[in-house]
Amino acid sequence: MTAPRIDTDTLRRLPKAVLHDHLDGGLRPATVVELAESVGHTLPTTDPDELAAWYFEAANSGDLVRYIATFEHTLAVMQSREGLLRTAEEYVLDLAGDGVVYGEVRYAPELMLNGGLTLAEVVETVQEGLAAGMAKAAAAGTPVRVGTLLCGMRMFDRTRATADLAVAFRDAGVVGFDIAGAEDGFPPADHLDAFAHLRRENVPFTIHAGEAHGLPSIHQALQVCGAQRIGHGVRITDDIVDGKLGRLAGWVRDRRIALEMCPTSNLQTGAATSIAEHPITALKDLGFRVTLNTDNRLVSGTTMTREMALLVEEAGWTAEDLRTVTVNAVKSAFLPFDERKALIEDVVLPGYASAL
Ligand SMILES: [Zn+2]
Repeated sequence: MTAPRIDTDTLRRLPKAVLHDHLDGGLRPATVVELAESVGHTLPTTDPDELAAWYFEAANSGDLVRYIATFEHTLAVMQSREGLLRTAEEYVLDLAGDGVVYGEVRYAPELMLNGGLTLAEVVETVQEGLAAGMAKAAAAGTPVRVGTLLCGMRMFDRTRATADLAVAFRDAGVVGFDIAGAEDGFPPADHLDAFAHLRRENVPFTIHAGEAHGLPSIHQALQVCGAQRIGHGVRITDDIVDGKLGRLAGWVRDRRIALEMCPTSNLQTGAATSIAEHPITALKDLGFRVTLNTDNRLVSGTTMTREMALLVEEAGWTAEDLRTVTVNAVKSAFLPFDERKALIEDVVLPGYASAL
C-alpha cells in the first residue's frame, strides 16, 4: 500500500529551510515592474504575469549562461537604496509565506553599484531590508530567520573585496560567502586569495560547483579551496557507478558535505533532465546530505512548496524524505551549533509532527 500524497496546503505549512536562494532571482514580478518604471528601465513587458512568464521562458534555454542573462532586468531595479530595501523586505515575507523558518539569501554586492552605493552601503541596506521583513514576519506569526551569503562573481576580480566584506559584516547578519556566475571556464581556484582569507578568518563558505562543469570543479571547490558546502553538485553522480562511490563522492558523503540541490533550476539549465530522474533522489537514498532549494524563485517560477510538491508527485518522495532534507539543511546552515540544534528540536521536528 502506498502512503497518501501530501496535499499542497499541508506542504506549505511544513517548516522549511533553504540554503541556496538568490536575492536577485526572487523578486516579485509586480515589484520589478514598479521599480523599473521609477528608474526608467525598459522591461520586455510591463504586465507582471507576462513578465513572470517571460522570465521562465527565457531561463528555460537549457544553458546556464543564458539563464544568468535574465538577471539583467532584476539587477536593474536593485541599484538604489529604495530598490534594495523593498526587494530585501519582500524576499523575507515571501519566504515566510512559503513556510520557510530558516533561509540563507545570497547576492553579489559588486553587481549593485550602478546607483552610486558603495559595497558596504549595499550590504548595510540589504540587511536593513531583511531585518524589516523579519520583524513583519514575526509580527504576523510566521517567524523566519534569514542569514546572508555574499557572492563574488567568478568571472570578475572582486572576490577578495567581497570576502573582506563578509568578514566585516560577520556580526551584522552575514553568515558566509559564495562564488556565483558562469561555472564553465571560471574554476574556483582562480579565487584562492579570497578563500584563503576567509579560512584565516574562520568564515564559512559554499561554492557553486558541479552544475555546468563536472567532478574537477567539485574537487577543486572542496580540496583546493576548502568549501564547507557545494552549490548544486549534481555532477557528483559522475563519480558513482552502479551505486558504488568513487573517492570524491565518498568524501562528500562521508564528511557530510551538504549538496545544495535545486531541481527546477537544473531542468532549466540542462543540468538534469527530469524531476523523476533528478539525482537528488538517488543521492538522498545513498545517504548524502542533500538539501532542497529554489535557487531563483522568479526566474525558475518556483517556491519551496512547489519543489516539494514536484518531488512528491514525480519522484515518490514521502513526508519523511522532506523532513530529512529539511533537517539536513539546518544541520549544514552557517549558524552556530546550538542555534541549529534549537531550530531542529524546537521548530522543524514539532512542525512536522503537528502538520502531518
Ligand atoms: Zn545558484
